[in-house]
Amino acid sequence: MLKINIITLFPDFFDSPLKTGVLGRAISSGLLKLRFVNPRDFTEDVHKTVDDTPFGGGDGMVMMYEPLKKAVDFLLTSQNKSKKEVKQKTIYLSPQGKKWDYQKAREWGEKDNEEKIIICGRYAGVDQRFISEYVEEEISVGDYVLTGGETALLVILDSISRFIKGALGNESSAVNESFEQGQLLEAPQWTRPREISGYKIPEIVLSGHHKNIKQFQYFMSILITAVKRPDLLSNNVIKKNLPEAINMAESLSKEELKSCGLLPESLNLLKQ
Ligand code: SAM
Repeated sequence: MLKINIITLFPDFFDSPLKTGVLGRAISSGLLKLRFVNPRDFTEDVHKTVDDTPFGGGDGMVMMYEPLKKAVDFLLTSQNKSKKEVKQKTIYLSPQGKKWDYQKAREWGEKDNEEKIIICGRYAGVDQRFISEYVEEEISVGDYVLTGGETALLVILDSISRFIKGALGNESSAVNESFEQGQLLEAPQWTRPREISGYKIPEIVLSGHHKNIKQFQYFMSILITAVKRPDLLSNNVIKKNLPEAINMAESLSKEELKSCGLLPESLNLLKQ
């Protein structure tokens, strides 16, 4: 079981999302354990101060060293283990961190018997001395600045929940989706009604011939990736199959191609 200790000034932020869907199921069935610790509970003044103005000037307030240190120490000592003994990685969510991705989500979700401490920053960020002393890894969810680490943590929790054994209804559904093996985006999908004016579900998909359908989906994945995210098409085998995938798409009718989210122009561009 994966256990995550979360240091946040706003534990209420998580109330609704953690009760919903796959993530909610992972938590309620005990597959993912979360514990919230609020640095405000480790302050000693009447105002429960957790932030102060930055030395050297600048906008916003900075989260203070002491309440954060006490929150981390509390988590470590409440298990009677010193920082060095304990196998709990201390992670700070930060726009300066290493980028979170599919592989990381999978790695965390599939881990058993792991415990981590994650710190959600707020305001203008955290006193660097706390980061220097306590943080072993910084993780970013993208090249933009959020108002707080809580939103970033929700992205992380949601993405890992899909890989926790038993959390997802259909075990295979995480494996067949985009970014599997970091290479291909998922092929297009359709559901009822079968007929929508101007669109046609490709015949092959309705043929019931599983091998041909699998081949079609593989080629579609290659084409969709080549159009939307060419940076992912690094694998030579996949690149080698691109011309055949283009041929297959060119054999589709205009209405079938449109249903796949592709245009004849985009196929022409891929040929160049
Ligand atoms: N002044 C900081 C900087 O420029 O690096 C940004 C502070 S931000 C307004 C407040 C908090 O939101 C950060 O301490 C961090 O915990 C979180 N945060 C903001 N953007 C993030 C991102 N892209 N990934 C992860 N956490 C982020």
